[in-house]
Amino acid sequence: MNIAIDGPAGAGKSTIAKRIAKELGYIYVDTGAMYRAMALFFIRKGVDPSATELIDTMCKDAQISIEYRNGEQVVVLNGENVNAFLRTEEVGNMASATSVNPNVRKKLVELQQELAAKNDVVMDGRDICTVVLPKAEVKVFLTAGSDVRAKRRYDELVAKGENPDIKKIEADIIERDNRDMNREVSPLKQAPDATFVDSSYMTIEEVVETIIGLTKK
Ligand code: C5P
Repeated sequence: MNIAIDGPAGAGKSTIAKRIAKELGYIYVDTGAMYRAMALFFIRKGVDPSATELIDTMCKDAQISIEYRNGEQVVVLNGENVNAFLRTEEVGNMASATSVNPNVRKKLVELQQELAAKNDVVMDGRDICTVVLPKAEVKVFLTAGSDVRAKRRYDELVAKGENPDIKKIEADIIERDNRDMNREVSPLKQAPDATFVDSSYMTIEEVVETIIGLTKK
């Protein structure tokens, strides 16, 4: 069984996908983390996000693999567990810029398809229903208003003791969505056979129940 969830940044995909995986005993595959690991590789090498040819040739030097430790996905970049470095705005923005590269995508899509062929998975990302797992048994497009997504991110940062600017967070989210939706290769879009779920006014529980309901059906 494969459950595929696509949607824009901050729609709650990873929180929801993790909960579903736990409830059903599936493996959660966070594909954004793979693009983030690739982005971290380029940041560490000092590569400019606009240096497309360099990104194209250098991505072959980034060996990315996935391991599971105590049920958690661990992303391994050239032998190093990089989980602790992936969830920053800098890495997210670099991932959005470098994920437009077809060679970067080809490499990571192969890894994602391999994981889904061997396991029952809940996989989230931008092109899972459309490109990676077009034959997934359950397909969902999960979204929420950009103001709601910005507020969720704002609350997360405040809880961490930071003092963020909510307008700037929303502007960044909108910019990232535009880039992800308008790129040439595998843009973010709803697959025609995916169920549309707007989580703006739903609790996490309600979204989890909706998707588990689709899976049981
Ligand atoms: O979901 P997350 O915010 O971790 O993704 C970071 C970036 O990686 C996205 O903005 C998107 O550009 C890219 N990505 C992608 N395809 C996926 C998952 C993520 O292009 N399947």
